[in-house]
Amino acid sequence: MKRKWQYFFSITAFIILVGAKIGQSIAVEEVHIVRHIDTNDKVVALTFDDGPNVKTTPKVLEVLKEKNVKATFFILGENAVEHPEIVKQAASEGHEIASHSYTHRHLSKMSPKDCADELAKAESIISQCASKPRYFRPPGGLFNDNVLEEAKRHGYTTILWSVDPHDWQSPSVSEMIKRVEDNVKPGGIVLMHDGQPNLPTPKALGTIIDDLRAQGYSFVTIDELLRHEEVKTTGFFNG
Ligand SMILES: [Zn+2]
Repeated sequence: MKRKWQYFFSITAFIILVGAKIGQSIAVEEVHIVRHIDTNDKVVALTFDDGPNVKTTPKVLEVLKEKNVKATFFILGENAVEHPEIVKQAASEGHEIASHSYTHRHLSKMSPKDCADELAKAESIISQCASKPRYFRPPGGLFNDNVLEEAKRHGYTTILWSVDPHDWQSPSVSEMIKRVEDNVKPGGIVLMHDGQPNLPTPKALGTIIDDLRAQGYSFVTIDELLRHEEVKTTGFFNG
């Protein structure tokens, strides 16, 4: 019983119980939000938000190619419309393309209809450039029950992060590297950005990859990270 209880709290990240009171009855539904994976294996997922940007995204892709690392891009639909060729390039180079909404307005402040439009429009352009997205990150990491329900309706798993170097505030390259390396743990998800010019991210990325590899880390997409957990979960129940 105790082991089961521990497992309940250690699984993935957060299970939010969304309760809707209907008269006397309570309908409880589980909505999964992933911030990291609980594992001792040295795997980490690099993620990039807000792109594609014509200046920054190609530089990020170049570093990832040089280092032979696959990452996950949470792209904005309105930027993908401007530069579909960059999204296609990222997908063709083996990276995972996920949704970060269409305009980056805060979904939790929108009407359910506007929120639904944001996700549908983003999915439409992403699906034209790559596969239908399976993962979603709300702008600013902000959500409410409606946002989570809409994501679920699209079949998305909602992904947040466990390491945030605040690269969008343009720290120095060395500061960004330190912020990532000081906070990475096995099963972590690193939040970075490629949606604006003049970010330290492309320059910091190569060193981050080299240093973490030297510590024994390998790099996975979000999809691989979650499958990694499924293997572990299955093993737990079988064992
Ligand atoms: Zn964002």
